[in-house]
Amino acid sequence: MPPLLSVFNQNLVPMDSRRNFLQKITLGSGLASLAPTLLSATPAADARQKPARKLRVAIMGLGSYGNRVAKAMKDCKSAELVGIVTGSPEKIPVWQKEYGIPDKNVYNYETVGQMKNNPDIDVVYIITPNSLHHTHTLQVAAAGKHVICEKPMADTAANARKMMAACEKAGVKLLIGYRLHFEPYTRKVIGMIQAGEMGKLNYIDNYQGFKIGDPTQWRLKKSLAGGGALMDVGVYCLNAARYLANEEPIWVTAQETKTDPVKFAEVDETIQFQLGFPSGLVASCATTYNFNFERLYAHGTKGFAEMSPAYGYGPLKGRTHKGPLDEPIVTHQTVQMDGMADIILNNKTLNPPVDGQEGLNDMIVLDAIYKSIRDGGRKVILNE
Ligand code: NDP
Repeated sequence: MPPLLSVFNQNLVPMDSRRNFLQKITLGSGLASLAPTLLSATPAADARQKPARKLRVAIMGLGSYGNRVAKAMKDCKSAELVGIVTGSPEKIPVWQKEYGIPDKNVYNYETVGQMKNNPDIDVVYIITPNSLHHTHTLQVAAAGKHVICEKPMADTAANARKMMAACEKAGVKLLIGYRLHFEPYTRKVIGMIQAGEMGKLNYIDNYQGFKIGDPTQWRLKKSLAGGGALMDVGVYCLNAARYLANEEPIWVTAQETKTDPVKFAEVDETIQFQLGFPSGLVASCATTYNFNFERLYAHGTKGFAEMSPAYGYGPLKGRTHKGPLDEPIVTHQTVQMDGMADIILNNKTLNPPVDGQEGLNDMIVLDAIYKSIRDGGRKVILNE
């Protein structure tokens, strides 16, 4: 296995580019400022491929979040829901009626491969349980369709790598459903930090958790969830620490607490983890399935940012040393899907990215957190 730092460095936009870019985007405000947040990866290709049409999306997994994304897409300017992949036949007529989906764009998990012969679908948005993301991505890539995959990208970094390889081999794009990368409050804070308004970041404190209900749900089964609170919502804290730091962690320590070993027999209930970054920045993060909490605090030599709520569907709220944040309130999944349409159809990139490498970078640290809990002590990511 290559050193993880070299993995982290692949495909990342150079820091200077990121900084200049983010300085630019903080000049605007409101929804109109969302469009310029997308960078052109290959301007020549961009000029060639100006699309005159919307991104045509099929959703795989018509559950709670799949329903939320579908509804949000009704307001998209650049993306439209045209197909479904489901293992529940009773959902088909309901979705067909609600979204006008034709019979020819309806699939189940066994017939996904047939999508290869359907020119009317561009991308499949995988919104199934975490441990199925890997298999489902391989299926969609083999059918020659672009992939948007929900977080966490996979159940292990090894599977995340296989997903990237499959998409690369098939010549399709792989994006991860990091909706906050498109969200105005989040982008404002990232922009301020990268423009140097908070000086040198030296501490991040963030947490997210919720009280989980139904003890029979897939989120509590390791075979489907891959892990517990950490995989489900702790990944937001990890991802935020990474995009605020604008560098990759080099070590992690982690501790687990279980108050209900019966309900959480297979997956983690509460995990605290700490990340160390090359600049000396440290992040202290926590996640749980035992109570509701969410907050993000970033402290620098010249100022701070605080958001609470920081990770939910909004409205998000926050303040900095300069005063309250006052950004447009948006439906996260609407701006996400419009942004992803631009990435896929116009060959744009986003900073911080939403590509497979970004998902893999999170998976590498998630693996290290679980390893630290298993083995105890500090896990040095750099030299693994
Ligand atoms: P749900 O249980 O509500 O829906 C999952 C759907 O996956 C099911 O309805 C089903 O759809 C399909 N599915 C396929 N195989 C299985 C299986 N073996 N067991 C259960 N369901 C199966 O989960 P969520 O929608 O809450 O979560 C799905 C994914 O979305 C997860 O990866 C989660 O992390 C992510 N998510 C992301 C959020 C975000 O804000 N970005 C928020 C919430 C979730 P069908 O019947 O159509 O086959």
